[in-house]
Amino acid sequence: MEKRIYNEETIKNIGKEISISGWVDTIRSHGKILFIDLRDKSGILQVVVSPQQEDVYDFAKEIRPEWVVAISGVVKERPERMQNPNLATGKIELEAQKIEVFSNAETLPFTIDSDGYEINEEKRLKYRYLDLRRGRLKKNLIARQEVLYFIRSFLKKEGFIEIETPILTKSTPEGARDFLVPSRLQPENFYALPQSPQQYKQLLMVAGLEKYFQIARCFRDEDPRADRQAEFTQLDLEMSFVEREDVMEITERLLINISRTIFPTKKIQEIPFPRLNYKEAMEKYNIDRPDIRKDKKDPDLLAFCWVVDFPFFEKDNEGKWTFTHNPFSAPKPEFMEDLLEKKNIKNILTTQYDIVLNGFEIGGGSIRNHRPEALESVFEVMDYRKSEIKEKFGHMLEAFKYGAPPHGGIAWGLDRFLSLNLNEPNIREVIAFPKTGDSRDLMMNAPSLVTEQQLKDLHIKIQVRKK
Ligand code: ASP
Repeated sequence: MEKRIYNEETIKNIGKEISISGWVDTIRSHGKILFIDLRDKSGILQVVVSPQQEDVYDFAKEIRPEWVVAISGVVKERPERMQNPNLATGKIELEAQKIEVFSNAETLPFTIDSDGYEINEEKRLKYRYLDLRRGRLKKNLIARQEVLYFIRSFLKKEGFIEIETPILTKSTPEGARDFLVPSRLQPENFYALPQSPQQYKQLLMVAGLEKYFQIARCFRDEDPRADRQAEFTQLDLEMSFVEREDVMEITERLLINISRTIFPTKKIQEIPFPRLNYKEAMEKYNIDRPDIRKDKKDPDLLAFCWVVDFPFFEKDNEGKWTFTHNPFSAPKPEFMEDLLEKKNIKNILTTQYDIVLNGFEIGGGSIRNHRPEALESVFEVMDYRKSEIKEKFGHMLEAFKYGAPPHGGIAWGLDRFLSLNLNEPNIREVIAFPKTGDSRDLMMNAPSLVTEQQLKDLHIKIQVRKK
């Protein structure tokens, strides 16, 4: 066989002998001639098998859709009336001279030539590796990569450093329940999977890195919700010596640039992004993530807005003060004294800024408390005992004693941002291997039971075991 080339490259090889490999998309006979549409990563190419090539023809008759094959032959221009303007390779075809079968395939559990919305989703998730053969999902994954690549090069040019932070870490009170990982080497102790890299990125600021970003995986053990994932991806960034305006400015510029470069058919409703304060948003829209689109029927309209000036604290179910967004945030400067003196709690506003797109909160961040006494005050307002503060946040308070720069940052939910730009109804459509609403991986069958020995190694006893 000739050296394999991609289907898209065949156009440059008219008259030449080449070889292609991929999946049989369709096979049909027309008169005596067999037509195979062969699909690879780059697209589809029509292959013609004529009965004159007796051996190849007899062999090809047995081939079925989704078999994996290599075909070699000569690239020919199609007669004009046979050309297909809808296909990148529609002007040519391959005259097969030799076919090799790598694998047979059973009939797939569902069709992959539609957009797939009509298919039962549990089935799609169970056979995700087949679902991903679908053109729409492949396109989504490629768009995702385009966005990630753009973000990385944009931020690098702006002087940011991409830094990976640990997945096995300490439980962080960021509003959701932690996923815990038992420690075999430290019996009775647990790691937590990060709800976000919040504390690490702040510690990187103490370390003097000044501009950090990460495409970070975050984990939150929340109750089932239709369009949430227990594990999701954030663009996380943090900067030193900045004020709220600086973080908002770079966020806005990056969002506008992504949209113009990667989603050029999209129209941003208003630039600079309008700003609302929390009070206005609640009064006018009765929600803190308003959908301000002027035309809700336009699928290409992106209506970004900022929401600022949120209350720092609210009462929880037990009547205790808790943070509305992030315990590490600083109050707006005019409320710093109130925070330090723990008075007028209800009125304290935070430096938090949320970025909203078409009614979805796609990101949020704040300027942080870099002075240990201010951070300590936040936890005192929330009624944490001194010993608890030390146990949970001692490392942060201590770090801030060794010269902490003023700093702030933001994180965006990349999955949601992508699904909105790709007009997908939910974030599972832009994630390669998503889980169900109740956090099961139907393809791998996770979570699953483990052996007695594994539990023993971890010093764990299950009280009630399922039969
Ligand atoms: N860590 C915050 C979050 O995950 C974002 C931030 O304040 O930077 O929501």
